[in-house]
Amino acid sequence: MKIVSIIGARPQFIKASPVSMEIRKNGLDEIIVHTGQHFDANMSNIFFDQMKIPEPDYNLGINSLSHGAMTGRMLEEIEKVLIVEKPDWVIVYGDTNSTLAGSLAAKKMHLKVAHIEAGLRSFNMNMPEEINRILTDRVSDILFCPTQTSVDNLLLERYDKFGSKIVNCGDVMLDAALMYKDMDKKPADDIPNKFILTTIHREENTVDKKRLRAIYDALSVISEETPIIIPTHPRTRIMLSELNSSSQNDRIKLISPVGYLEMLYLIQKCSLIITDSGGLQKESYFFEKPCVTIRDETEWTELVRIGSNIVAGTDVDNILNAYGQMKDRKINFSYKLFGLGNAAQIIVNEILVEKRIL
Ligand code: UDP
Repeated sequence: MKIVSIIGARPQFIKASPVSMEIRKNGLDEIIVHTGQHFDANMSNIFFDQMKIPEPDYNLGINSLSHGAMTGRMLEEIEKVLIVEKPDWVIVYGDTNSTLAGSLAAKKMHLKVAHIEAGLRSFNMNMPEEINRILTDRVSDILFCPTQTSVDNLLLERYDKFGSKIVNCGDVMLDAALMYKDMDKKPADDIPNKFILTTIHREENTVDKKRLRAIYDALSVISEETPIIIPTHPRTRIMLSELNSSSQNDRIKLISPVGYLEMLYLIQKCSLIITDSGGLQKESYFFEKPCVTIRDETEWTELVRIGSNIVAGTDVDNILNAYGQMKDRKINFSYKLFGLGNAAQIIVNEILVEKRIL
């Protein structure tokens, strides 16, 4: 049995690590295609090294283009790979342009597609990620859902009628977190004893200067109480320097993007997380840290429901208010919202079962 895995962006490398390991454990043949969407060493190579992901068999080197151009070129190049490799299954992850191009290329060739992290919805069609995930779900044969909410989203959209199989396998990011948490590594930068961990990278928060300005202003106020560490996405660093904010406050420390092991160190040591990242919202729960989400909505609504996360938007007062509520909140972190940390095993077993049925 041959599987082609399509990856291209940082969170996909993290998600692919436990799955790829499980594929190899079962003696299956995996061809890894890196679309090239993320290409800086600290956004790409470091994850392959740290998380023992095999070198990609193909690197398509497609990046820094508009959404249409990027997705179109990926579609064309992935199709060429699939024609050569003739896999039994194509695995795609999450909600990036690489996900959409991979699933579309595969399905047009009548290949079986497995979507890992299916069923997530923000209900905001202005997000490129929302478009990518809806279209990918629609053409996938197995929809591997990380949470009950994501299963419910698909059922509400009548996916039970589409002939695709819905599997609640839990979250592969929990597998990764459990696998690597004890190998965490202190970043090279000076890290204070008490700090807040922040990441900002969503298009809506970086392209819109007003939103980025408001986020930075709120962080400035919060940092008077507790210093803030920001592993800074390349796009955010450029936008922040255009705002001329990065040098204004030395209690907000912008460091380079870090590897997964350094990130696990920061997550485990921080007192609270402020983020617009999907992955980091979940990791805040895995490592029992309160979270403030600087977006207008979240796909991970269960965290809001149980009170470990507040969706604050990007209004200064709302962020400060959310921070004030979260910093000393007593939270029950004992719910198994993201499965048991064996998602990769369930995924590979399901693919093997499907193979036997066919
Ligand atoms: N992450 C990392 N280094 C960083 C910033 C983030 O390893 O400098 C990890 C983070 O812990 C999480 C994943 O990258 O596991 C999230 O990726 P990102 O925020 O880029 O994407 P999203 O999850 O929002 O799709």
